[in-house]
Amino acid sequence: MLKLDFAKAFDTVNWVGLQRVLQARGFDQRWIGWMLRLLDTSKSAVLVNGHPGPWISCKRGLRQGDPLSPYLFILVAETLQRMIREAQQIKHPTDEALPCAVLQYADDTLIGFKADVPGAVKLKDILDQFAAFSGLHINFSKSTLIPIHTREQIVSDCVQILSCTRGSFPQPYLGLPLSVNKLPVSAFSVYIHKADKFLSSWQADMLNPMGRTILVNSVLDSLLVYLMSSLQLPPSAIEQMDRKRRAFLWSGDKSGHSSPSSCLIAWIKVCSPKDLGGLGIRDLGIQNICLLLKLLHRLYNPQSSAWAIWVRRRAEITTLHGDLHGDHWQTLRTILPLYQAITTVEVGDGSTCSLWNDVWTGDDCFADRFPALFSHCNIKTQTVREAKSSGIRSTLVPRLSMLADHELQLAQQLLDQTTLSAAQDKRISDFIKPDENIDIGAIYKMLKARGQPSDPKATFIWNTWAPPRVHLFMWLLLQRRNQCRTVLFRKHIVDSPICEICNITDETLEHIIHGCSLGKEVWMRLNLQSMISMDMGQLHTIANHTATVIPELPSFIALVCWHVWKARNAKVFRNEEHSVDRVLLDCRSAAELWQYRFPRAKRQTATQWCSILQMARQGQG
Ligand SMILES: [Zn+2]
Repeated sequence: MLKLDFAKAFDTVNWVGLQRVLQARGFDQRWIGWMLRLLDTSKSAVLVNGHPGPWISCKRGLRQGDPLSPYLFILVAETLQRMIREAQQIKHPTDEALPCAVLQYADDTLIGFKADVPGAVKLKDILDQFAAFSGLHINFSKSTLIPIHTREQIVSDCVQILSCTRGSFPQPYLGLPLSVNKLPVSAFSVYIHKADKFLSSWQADMLNPMGRTILVNSVLDSLLVYLMSSLQLPPSAIEQMDRKRRAFLWSGDKSGHSSPSSCLIAWIKVCSPKDLGGLGIRDLGIQNICLLLKLLHRLYNPQSSAWAIWVRRRAEITTLHGDLHGDHWQTLRTILPLYQAITTVEVGDGSTCSLWNDVWTGDDCFADRFPALFSHCNIKTQTVREAKSSGIRSTLVPRLSMLADHELQLAQQLLDQTTLSAAQDKRISDFIKPDENIDIGAIYKMLKARGQPSDPKATFIWNTWAPPRVHLFMWLLLQRRNQCRTVLFRKHIVDSPICEICNITDETLEHIIHGCSLGKEVWMRLNLQSMISMDMGQLHTIANHTATVIPELPSFIALVCWHVWKARNAKVFRNEEHSVDRVLLDCRSAAELWQYRFPRAKRQTATQWCSILQMARQGQG
């Protein structure tokens, strides 16, 4: 396998070469004239201390950023493929009847050829000829020859002839690690370390955890989407990435180390969706499976895709067993049952529909409906089409139990009622969008939820008009995980759990919010006495316990709890004494800011809050 490296590919294309290629391809003379005119008139200038220098007319190269450039480049580069395929001396690695394999994607080129001296000599000759005519300079010292099952002598001869370097798998190709063997974990570290580049440029200490949550979700996770759409990450790679994400989330640490004390909630909970009580950080393992489902979906839809046709020629489409080897296919085979479970087949010609594992009539697949019969089945790969032509009986063991025999009759009846047509089988599912793509987001949600009911606290926490950092505070508060002294004492970080403000009892979250004098007084003045006996884990039920009418109560509770908490922190960390009046005033100024988070129709609420807070300040609660 030879991987070519073109030096500054776009900038060096020779115009005469391009013109000849276009002519040979039969483009109209006028059109070619236009293209050349476009190139001809291109000028460049060098920025010197920010000022452009004199204009330089270009003599070669394609215009950067011109949408036509990639096409023109491909036309030139494809000549190389033609030249190699036509050379008799360069042979296909395994089958001499086939032309040599050349994979080209823009300037990323892979040539798979049979390693022998005449082939290598000819290849080098072609590469030189191609470079001379196209102007594309091949960087031989950066091009790599990767031997697969080749004798040592031949490898060193070829390396010498091609004057390239010798490499080994895995090799990066189109941004993915390419290998003939199972990928080692180390092959993934380069992708995981990409995260460091982002982490180091973010001012983590300036962000609150909620800001970091958003960065983790929108940037760190999307880094891996491309990789995860093609390959399954090994668990240890996911662990490494999780360690980085966790440390960054909780402590803003960029090196991937987090102290146990800074992680306030178990990672598994953090990775749950918000409506299930989590923080909505993406679970990479499940995200990976969802993205791979997309790949499987392409096998069935559209069936005309080149890849689907290639796979169908080599393996049973219903099981993926056959001439498909390696770890990657094993992964897809393990995900296939999930794909079959979430889709239903509208039978056409029946050729891509598994008799046993697909749902194609009724609500269940045959394997679930006729378990006794299924246990007597020898060949479980039958398609509906095969079953129609050769019958189910031919795949069963000779003697059937009575139950199995009964099930066989039922199954055969259902099969007889089905008529095949010439149309392709069609997969239908709630997870397939109108544009025929599969809805990854919905599948992710379903896999994460696994039938769990949504968390009653979720609406109370997230459906408020509070800023994100207050959302996070409330999320922690309802799980009683904010760092109060009893929590810190349990983690051996402080030596006493006693409240530093009143020095009377243990500082639990309840004590901070409504037990200590400040909190208690605030709620009394607001006429929300029922808050004073509230267990923070039950805070979301507050509306059932109070008769006081306050519009948008959950948001209001969040506002007041947040400022009581802030007053406690001011006292503990900066020794600032905040009076009840000060807390109410702070709540009022915050309410004025929060009103812009409300939808326009609800802006009035903030005004109502302000007058409630004002009344409380005057002690009229
Ligand atoms: Zn206290």
